Amino acid sequence: MSKKIRVRFAPSPTGGLHLGGVRTVLYNYLFAKQQGGEFIVRIEDTDQTRFVEGAEQYIFDCLAWCGLVPDESPLHGGAYGPYRQSERKSLYREYAEKLVEQGHAYYAFDTPEDLEQMRNQYKSAENPAPQYDGKVRLKMKNSLTLPATEVTKMLETGTPHVIRIKIPANESIAFQDLIHQEVRFDSNLVDDKVLLKADGMPTYHLAVVVDDYLMKITHAFRGEEWLSSAPVHILLWKYLFGLDQMPAWAHLPLILGPSGKLSKRDGAKFGFPVYAMNWTDPRSNELTEGFKEKGFLPEAFINLLAMLGWNSGEEKELFSLEELIQAFSIERVHKSGAKFDYEKAKWFNHEWIKKTPVSHYATFVKQYFAGKGVEIKEEAYFLSVLEKVKDRCTLLSDFYEQGIYFFEAPAQLDVTAAVSKWNLEKASFFENFCQQLEAIPNWTALSIEESFKLLATEKNIKPGELQLPMRIMLVGGKFGPAVFEIAHAIGKKETIARVQKALPIFNASI
Ligand code: GLU
Repeated sequence: MSKKIRVRFAPSPTGGLHLGGVRTVLYNYLFAKQQGGEFIVRIEDTDQTRFVEGAEQYIFDCLAWCGLVPDESPLHGGAYGPYRQSERKSLYREYAEKLVEQGHAYYAFDTPEDLEQMRNQYKSAENPAPQYDGKVRLKMKNSLTLPATEVTKMLETGTPHVIRIKIPANESIAFQDLIHQEVRFDSNLVDDKVLLKADGMPTYHLAVVVDDYLMKITHAFRGEEWLSSAPVHILLWKYLFGLDQMPAWAHLPLILGPSGKLSKRDGAKFGFPVYAMNWTDPRSNELTEGFKEKGFLPEAFINLLAMLGWNSGEEKELFSLEELIQAFSIERVHKSGAKFDYEKAKWFNHEWIKKTPVSHYATFVKQYFAGKGVEIKEEAYFLSVLEKVKDRCTLLSDFYEQGIYFFEAPAQLDVTAAVSKWNLEKASFFENFCQQLEAIPNWTALSIEESFKLLATEKNIKPGELQLPMRIMLVGGKFGPAVFEIAHAIGKKETIARVQKALPIFNASI
């Protein structure tokens, strides 16, 4: 019987969730759901010096916004908990000690000064940053160099120590990556990584292997930046649990920005979001804008992330989460870095805004109006406005600018666009038009248009030449849906008031 598919996202709660992190979640999730498997979130918080208040909750908020709900996590529970590594601390020592017994790891008592001295002593042009590895380990203070009795005494008296893996010499460490196929590492280039720290906490390397084993993880998709750690993990799997137990790995291509690997700094520099949601660093109070607050729909965000490093092999680019679950395949994940193109990201959002019912995002859009001091009173009217302008919005925040004139008269009129053709005949047309509008029996876009055209014919002016000024009077600028629809929506009184208010401004320009 084949094993139940179990994947995990294992973030360290150290700050904002980068779009690369969400893509990692997404590929794990798509694969698990397609295979009828389970998606687990495990919080890797063993490095307490990097702990950041609020970062864990923020990760779960981002996942909830994206609709990527874990089956198991510290928040959702599950049979393999606890799901925070700091709460599993007592579990790891036995594995580290087992490795020492087997001869695959050793106790190291070197002080920070000893390590500093080693680095200075062995630094050279070819080796500017010497590592604690096979070349130096026998020159250091550890259970390989000190007499056994002394080691026992040091351990008994609580001398600060770590446990390091003993990387074997001259081995070619290989594994089959689901994306990169066979990957090989020369063991002579790998350092003796710390597995258990002086505070008794495991490092990431030990904890990730032990937890993937105990949580019965079958597949692990993670960023390519972790590929260099793979040889250590493979050896730990081999020594502790057997390579046949090791999850299948897929190292996902990097996401590239305008200048190499996409970074938070790129976002600030080029004016696009890099994090899923707004993140305020509690240490500096620095706010980094997220895709959500920038005005992206989660459906668009998921869709664009899916395409950053994967394609379906067809022309189709718009996929819902359900469709992605069906279409995703690891074979079609690219090996090389995926370039993030903000213009393309906005295209996805525009398409999703158009195809999503406005009721789905109306509450969120309302916040942009509230932020500008505009209170929405009539829900049905608000929805009808969103419906009229949705095709013109790329970001949800665009709804404000595209729709505000349905609620308030424009503060300024962009008359420059129409003044060159303005004259007294046109002014007189609008004066008469206002009188005519007063008398219109039924206020529909069609009846307003008919009345407008009739009067234009009577006055021998081309209706096309009158529509632009009318639009500017009602909207403020040269944009928006059909002008008679706008007049219909804002109502008779408001239409007449706006035209009358605008006329002197137009006339002043003659
Ligand atoms: N804790 C690692 C991180 O912060 C997880 C890497 C992995 O998936 O193995 O990304």
